[in-house]
Amino acid sequence: MIFEGLAEKLQDTFDKLKGKGKLSEKDVKSALREVKLALLEADVNFKVVKNFISKVEERAVGKEVLDSLTPGQQVIKIVNEELTDLMGGAQSKVEYASDPPTVIMLTGLQGAGKTTTAGKLAKKFIKDGKDPLLVAADVYRPAAIKQLQVLGERLDQPVFSMGDKQDPVDITKAAISRAESNGNDVVILDTAGRLHIDEELMDELSQIKAAVVPDEILLVVDSMTGQDAVNVADKFDDTLGIDGVVLTKLDGDARGGAALSISSVTGKPIKFAGVGEKLEDLEPFHPDRMASRILGMGDVLSLIEKAEEEMDQKKAQELEEKLRKNEFTLEDFMDQLEQVRNMGSFKEILNMIPGVGNKIKDLDMDEGQLDKIEAIISSMTKEEKRDPEMIKGSRRRRIANGSGTEVQDVNRLLKQFKQTQKMMKQVGDMQKGGLGGKMGG
Ligand code: GDP
Repeated sequence: MIFEGLAEKLQDTFDKLKGKGKLSEKDVKSALREVKLALLEADVNFKVVKNFISKVEERAVGKEVLDSLTPGQQVIKIVNEELTDLMGGAQSKVEYASDPPTVIMLTGLQGAGKTTTAGKLAKKFIKDGKDPLLVAADVYRPAAIKQLQVLGERLDQPVFSMGDKQDPVDITKAAISRAESNGNDVVILDTAGRLHIDEELMDELSQIKAAVVPDEILLVVDSMTGQDAVNVADKFDDTLGIDGVVLTKLDGDARGGAALSISSVTGKPIKFAGVGEKLEDLEPFHPDRMASRILGMGDVLSLIEKAEEEMDQKKAQELEEKLRKNEFTLEDFMDQLEQVRNMGSFKEILNMIPGVGNKIKDLDMDEGQLDKIEAIISSMTKEEKRDPEMIKGSRRRRIANGSGTEVQDVNRLLKQFKQTQKMMKQVGDMQKGGLGGKMGG
């Protein structure tokens, strides 16, 4: 989970601080020593840590903090603000060019997640009403072109490729012409990476940059590589010049050193965070919300945005209709489960709720339970899904066998569904009543 280790330590430190009515300078200093250690253990750049702690200390040991009624809260507030600042302050977005197409050049080392990010970005732009062209300019990594084509197919979006025998500079130039003639308003260039930074790579990228003059050069780095990611970013910015960073694999990064250092070291903002392998697993990077998550203060705004993004408006309306008519079936139940799952792992979702962060760290969230439910429902016939009442003894056994579960599991699910249906009916009745009242009055 994102920042799990760091969040746990910081929250423990601050819980102790909050527990004290009055704080002395010594209390604050000793808490900050713990914060410093936690940040270093999280693999945050040493200079960044030093600078951060001295800034917080300067603000936190003053009279107005120590004499306030809630000194612990005040210290946390300061840490929150400084963490936000550390990660770049305000959110930095990708701007669309006034004269389309907006050309976005993705760069980075092999395996950082460039191709995946190209697909994820395309999905974001499509949601924004744009018509992006994906460009396969990585002619060295075997399968990179195919990988992009597969993503393009899934998004039903064109992919420009000239195979792996042409010069990447020629490919990107031809791609821009294609976008212009096709009317694509965004172009996403998936350039080649290498295992390490070398002159050849930098030369090639510089040539592409000179030839197509991208509106945005984004560097894709793997957050799990910690300080290596920071060094790569520094080097890319020095030699090529970048406009921002996409930090991938944050979902697996319990430490968070790259996220916390990269922006201060390079002076360039993190624009997006990759939080999973699926196409929807890309979040705009909000430094303030990240800071809140690290401090266990939750991130309700991201949670709401996620729900809005994943909830299919049409499906929501259909569901409402069904509720009203009391036609909620097991098929709908499964649909709902699917939508919740699309939002991310349960733990990740719960972590966005204020106050929950530190408390769920030991909770063993059984995602397997959901798999079971899906397997059971999938083993039912269409008729059974629509009318679960008909599922009696022998059918229950068949379904259990078919889904690799036990009859008890099937029984439990049917009971749960019945309860849900009852609850849904009540909600539906209430809505009916409300609507009827309005129409009558
Ligand atoms: P490229 O060589 O830079 O184009 O890297 P790829 O796009 O092929 O990604 C390398 C691997 O990282 C693939 O297995 C991706 O599925 C995975 N990956 C990319 N982004 C993320 C992310 O945000 N989270 C996780 N968990 N995996 C990711």
